[in-house]
Amino acid sequence: MNTNRSSELFGKAKTLMPGGVNSPVRAFGSVGREPLFIAGSRGDRITDADGNEYIDYVCSWGPDILGHAHPTVIKAVKRACDNGLTYGACHEGEVLLAEKIKAHYPSMELLRLVNSGTEAVMSAVRAARGFTGRDKIVKFEGCYHGHSDGLLVKGGSGLLTGSVPDSAGVPAGFTEATLLARYNDAGSVQSLFEQYTDSIAAVIVEPCAANMGVVPPKDGFLQTLRDITAQYGALLIFDEVITGFRLSAGGAQEYYGIKPDMTVLGKIAGGGMPLAAYGGRKEIMEQIAPLGAVYQAGTLSGNPIATAAGIAQITQIEQTPDLYSELDRKAGILENATKKAGLNVNRVGSLMTVFFSDTPVTDYDTAQSADRTEYARFFSYLLEKGIYTAPSQFEAMFVSYAHSDDDIVKTAEIISRYRKEN
Ligand SMILES: *Cc1c(COP(=O)(O)O)cnc(C)c1O
Repeated sequence: MNTNRSSELFGKAKTLMPGGVNSPVRAFGSVGREPLFIAGSRGDRITDADGNEYIDYVCSWGPDILGHAHPTVIKAVKRACDNGLTYGACHEGEVLLAEKIKAHYPSMELLRLVNSGTEAVMSAVRAARGFTGRDKIVKFEGCYHGHSDGLLVKGGSGLLTGSVPDSAGVPAGFTEATLLARYNDAGSVQSLFEQYTDSIAAVIVEPCAANMGVVPPKDGFLQTLRDITAQYGALLIFDEVITGFRLSAGGAQEYYGIKPDMTVLGKIAGGGMPLAAYGGRKEIMEQIAPLGAVYQAGTLSGNPIATAAGIAQITQIEQTPDLYSELDRKAGILENATKKAGLNVNRVGSLMTVFFSDTPVTDYDTAQSADRTEYARFFSYLLEKGIYTAPSQFEAMFVSYAHSDDDIVKTAEIISRYRKEN
């Protein structure tokens, strides 16, 4: 595999950007390789700067659920560009996208469009605090909610690998109001509420965790969170930045049948453009300026190109009735091959993670027991055979609608040979 051009670009990138990257996981640090520079993408394939082609199971970490460069989305973006890239003023695209989101997420009675998942979570948490007049937030070990100060505590995702267990530069006071609970352990949440009865504003959770690798909620876990938060007058926030439009058009809340007070969306909702959303019950969202006293704003929020991409992608999702059954079928083929190969795998719909661990992975601690060195070997084995997966044990594999049966079968065959050849 010739990767000279990627290597050359990485050399230059390192002199310009910390670690040569604009987001840490891209540096391939935890798999001990140099990153590939991507030159283009289409359908289920990406091509690197040296012309090597890969079947892609990262899919930009989720947004590309229809595959890369979906013609409908690309056309909508090109058309939108002709009308200018940004106005910093109201436009019809914002209304159309908000309407579409609300149709699929009726719990988001009012919502705001912003530019990233991080920003959306940060804003949702501020709204929850403003509404309840309380300060504390409960989050779960291994759940990732973006890189804002208060939530960088046992954050999952890139934070679980490499040498950054947490972040420097966050004053202790900023995380004082963040309480940690164990995923899939409702008892740990109950005890926090018993201790901090009147000071917890919200519980924030990835309804299906996907940033410590995929860890599905146990039966009853989400319902118990719903019950406890209601009982103590706190809000339940679903961070559906990954699961939104992924587990179903209505996200995890539709998939599991639990209605949160607030929801955060990102990734798929923006069709591949920088767009995210947060919203919830009307009386909570009415606290946001200009209606209320919780301030949140954005120069590029609701950007017309981003809304055009989001509208086109969600419309395409609506017009693909077999989308979720096909995603499930395709990912199921990979899951079966992985199990047959004797590997440990967690899967929910089109999200899956192969864990190099002998015990079932149900929370942060069991995820941490996975063997990262073996994962690195697995990653390289796949990459050298033309299959691009997450360069970290603690991320998901994303299957898209564009993954062809041939490519799925090819991937399944390669995975099933892994143990024999390693
Ligand atoms: C990706 C992600 C975020 C952060 O979104 P960005 O757009 O990367 O800021 C937040 N929450 C979850 C669950 C995510 O997967």
